[in-house]
Amino acid sequence: MIRCRALAGLLCLCLASTVALVARAQNVSSPYHVNAQRLQSTLVKLSEYGRNPDGGVTRLGYSETDMAAREYVIGIMKDAGLSIRIDPAGNIFGQRDGSQKLPVILFGSHIDSVVHGGNYDGDVGSLGAIEVIRALNESSMKTRHPLEVVIWTNEEGNHFGIGTLGSGIAAGLIGPEILDRKDDKGVTFAEWLRRYGQDPAKLGDARIRQDLLAASLELHIEQGPNLYERQIPIGVVRSIVAVGRWDCVVSGTANHAGTTPMNRRHNALTAASKDVLAVRDVVLSETGTQVGNVGFMKVEPGAPNVIPGRAEFPVELRDLDDGKVLRMWEHVSEGLRQVDKEEGVDTRCESTDNVRSARATPAIQAAIRDAAKSVGLASMDLPSFAGQDSQNIAKIAPMGMIFIPSKAGISHSPEEYSSPQDIANGAEVLYRTVLLLDQRLNP
Ligand SMILES: [Zn+2]
Repeated sequence: MIRCRALAGLLCLCLASTVALVARAQNVSSPYHVNAQRLQSTLVKLSEYGRNPDGGVTRLGYSETDMAAREYVIGIMKDAGLSIRIDPAGNIFGQRDGSQKLPVILFGSHIDSVVHGGNYDGDVGSLGAIEVIRALNESSMKTRHPLEVVIWTNEEGNHFGIGTLGSGIAAGLIGPEILDRKDDKGVTFAEWLRRYGQDPAKLGDARIRQDLLAASLELHIEQGPNLYERQIPIGVVRSIVAVGRWDCVVSGTANHAGTTPMNRRHNALTAASKDVLAVRDVVLSETGTQVGNVGFMKVEPGAPNVIPGRAEFPVELRDLDDGKVLRMWEHVSEGLRQVDKEEGVDTRCESTDNVRSARATPAIQAAIRDAAKSVGLASMDLPSFAGQDSQNIAKIAPMGMIFIPSKAGISHSPEEYSSPQDIANGAEVLYRTVLLLDQRLNP
């Protein structure tokens, strides 16, 4: 068994040798239409854009690196015969005609990453979707519905602080108010759209009309341990979590750390530290699978001999139930007010993102299960605790997601890994699900 680590130099070597094995395995009366080797070679190539010396990638949405990676992906979409269209939010669409005038079956994912991310989150679903088109072309398979591959922009939201940004605009959940938002270098979202060759004034045109989509599908790594630990190759997503995010600022008083007596301090960092524990305690205070996180903290002025006067941190809460996320936030807010009193500071929080939970469409879940069964692959139903573009698209189209195992459940890390066989399984199930939906929808 080949053990792969997504480290810079090893990645190509490791993927290349496993690719050869998978290719050999597939020659024995392969039930696969997708070409595992070809799919892996595109994953290896995409991993070069934004590669970090210590492994993995940093390829933020709306960045120079993302732009270069998009050019590569657009190139292979064109090679697969797709007609390319880029919407005013920068989302990339590649269409393959259908034989009838029917709404589109849309499938794809994203190619942006988090800071120091891995090579599989988003990439597998994006390149898997393009591989499905190549496989359909090879078998001269004509579908009734037009098919469209989509590459959503800035799914991770590490740039501009809003996750699933491109799909949110396409689903009409994010409007032109986003245009003036500045990134941490002071560049507005409107300016980044111009750099992507788009006219910010036309942002509203990115919205997809509800009657245009017959279905939306996304292949993705699980980013959790369920499939990997149970050794089940295919996950059928039931629902996707609600994600609430708030930015909090604690205002205290910066003062001399030597001369100010301990009982006269208004230390913003001490208060913020207690706030972090309050978030954890609220999340742990009831049963269920809810989670919460404080991902970073910025402290000012930031000197060893000055009492911190200001601390800034984001709070993120997730659960499959929208109501529970809001209830947890109310309890967190009470906790923060209590800390304010104890520490003599003032904390203000502002909601920055509120993505509602989404349910996958039962008929699409059934098609994914049937597709997996037809390849002889076991599947299980499971929720997604990661936010997804698909949860936005669920507002405007019937939606389904296919998960494949993530090694040890690790994601958003250079250690993220899914085997070539698992990736080929996922792409083949996507291929067959597309064809099943093409038969079953709009009969
Ligand atoms: Zn993703």
